[in-house]
Amino acid sequence: QAKARGRNGYRFYSPSMTGEGVERLRLEAWLRRSLEKDEMFLNYQPQVEIDTGRLVGVEALVRWNHPELGLVSPARFIPLAEDTGFISQLGEWVLAEACRQMVRWQAAGLAVPKIAVNLSVRQFERGTIVATVDRILRATGLEPRRLQLEVTESVIMNTGDARTYINGLHDLGVGLAIDDFGTGYSSLAYLKQMPVQTLKIDRSFIQDIHQDANDEAIAIAIIQLGKSMNLSVIAEGVETDEQAAFLLRHGCNLAQGYFYSRPVMPDDLLRRWLP
Ligand code: C2E
Ligand code: MG
Ligand code: MG
Ligand code: MG
Repeated sequence: QAKARGRNGYRFYSPSMTGEGVERLRLEAWLRRSLEKDEMFLNYQPQVEIDTGRLVGVEALVRWNHPELGLVSPARFIPLAEDTGFISQLGEWVLAEACRQMVRWQAAGLAVPKIAVNLSVRQFERGTIVATVDRILRATGLEPRRLQLEVTESVIMNTGDARTYINGLHDLGVGLAIDDFGTGYSSLAYLKQMPVQTLKIDRSFIQDIHQDANDEAIAIAIIQLGKSMNLSVIAEGVETDEQAAFLLRHGCNLAQGYFYSRPVMPDDLLRRWLP
């Protein structure tokens, strides 16, 4: 039965038709070979200063282009990569590729101030994250201060030795940002002890900022929190002029979102943002 459904799913790729189990197994098998088959690539989304429109950084976002499925969303394959352990390989590749791209931009005369790279909680569990980042920085020659690592609150709260690793990364000279801030659970007391420089307000709060009084209140609270803790605050998922104006009005001058740019290929970034 599973086999018949699997064959069906082969022709009509859709999780609802193949059933979760079969779908997962097939994706897993494909995912495992994605790097050797050169199917992964990175897009880069600009981070800008709202009042000047100046480029302050880019976030690297991984993309999987499967020959049959087409583009598979990271929302789908990152959790799978995390469950299977493939994330450590993938995460290393993303880090290395992002650093190499920064060096290429620098060589091409585009001074991208910094690159943000997402780290999964699983990348902290093996205890090698500091050594890995150090090795990649040395191999690519990227200055550590050009790299910002994005972790979620769960990394800070759930990793046994989070403090040690976060401090180790900080000692390398790389920056740290808390991604999707406000959606997880983090203790402010804990946060205060971490050498973090940036809070990223989650897109879910920005989306309905003008319709939902709670979201508005949360966004303002995060901006205030960042201010009082001397952290920089960047809003994710800014899609409209009104959202940008709101943020500026409330003291947040950094944003990332479709209003400024979608995640793009490296050459598009070069074309559009080169002074
Ligand atoms: P994230 O790190 O919070 O990244 C922001 C996501 O929001 C990206 O989705 C981006 O394309 C999307 N986005 C940016 N601006 C807007 C906007 O104005 N409107 C809307 N609707 N969306 C916007 P993406 O690229 O699909 O990535 C989803 C998530 O997958 C990321 O969330 C991150 O958690 C994870 N991810 C992506 N690349 C990597 C990676 O290399 N490693 C790890 N561990 N996770 C990654
Ligand atoms: Mg991120
Ligand atoms: Mg986010
Ligand atoms: Mg996320």
